[in-house]
Amino acid sequence: KPKVVVVGRSNVGKSTFVRLMTGRKDVKVGKRPGLTLKINEYDLGDYILVDLPGFGYMSGLPKNVQEKIKDEIVHYIENNADKIATAVQIIDAKSFFEIVRRWDERGEIPIDLEMFDFITDLKISPILVVNKMDKIKKEDWDTVLDGICEFFKCSPPWRQWKFIVPAVLKKGQGIDEIKKRIKERVDLFKKLKV
Ligand code: GDP
Repeated sequence: KPKVVVVGRSNVGKSTFVRLMTGRKDVKVGKRPGLTLKINEYDLGDYILVDLPGFGYMSGLPKNVQEKIKDEIVHYIENNADKIATAVQIIDAKSFFEIVRRWDERGEIPIDLEMFDFITDLKISPILVVNKMDKIKKEDWDTVLDGICEFFKCSPPWRQWKFIVPAVLKKGQGIDEIKKRIKERVDLFKKLKV
């Protein structure tokens, strides 16, 4: 069965997403970010949803542990590349630019972009979920999404790119669109594999 991997920095709403997709109440949301170091796989019928650990900075987590988690994610994706139909990468609309600015000041490539590039280099076409859009004023949506679009090396307007999906996962908003995008990619993947 094809796999759909879920990636994102900790606290972006990854558990909220996995819970919406699986309907399972035992997926932990909030409180202790990054605690899910285990790789959880859920059989959703057409595909396997793979919940990968959250990456990047987490308070109280030593740098070497962060690196270890990132390596684990990278290895999983590399080793399973031929089975992965798509990756759902989630970012937090509100804190995204702040985080990017901090990485930029240190002269480093932001981990979100690094992950995105890594995935696309493996010929996996990701779905970029821009979560927590409720924290952005409605009139600023297009500006924020265009900015994110440019950051991921796509020219605005963001709407022309079908891989960007704004969402308020806390309220279930955007989930149908994400499911639609996943289905398109899973169907295409199955067609190409036979
Ligand atoms: P994870 O660490 O990526 O698995 O993130 P969680 O799903 O545990 O969510 C982290 C925090 O973000 C929780 O307090 C959620 O309630 C909150 N959250 C998730 N989705 C949204 C959203 O759409 N809007 C807002 N404002 N908060 C959200």
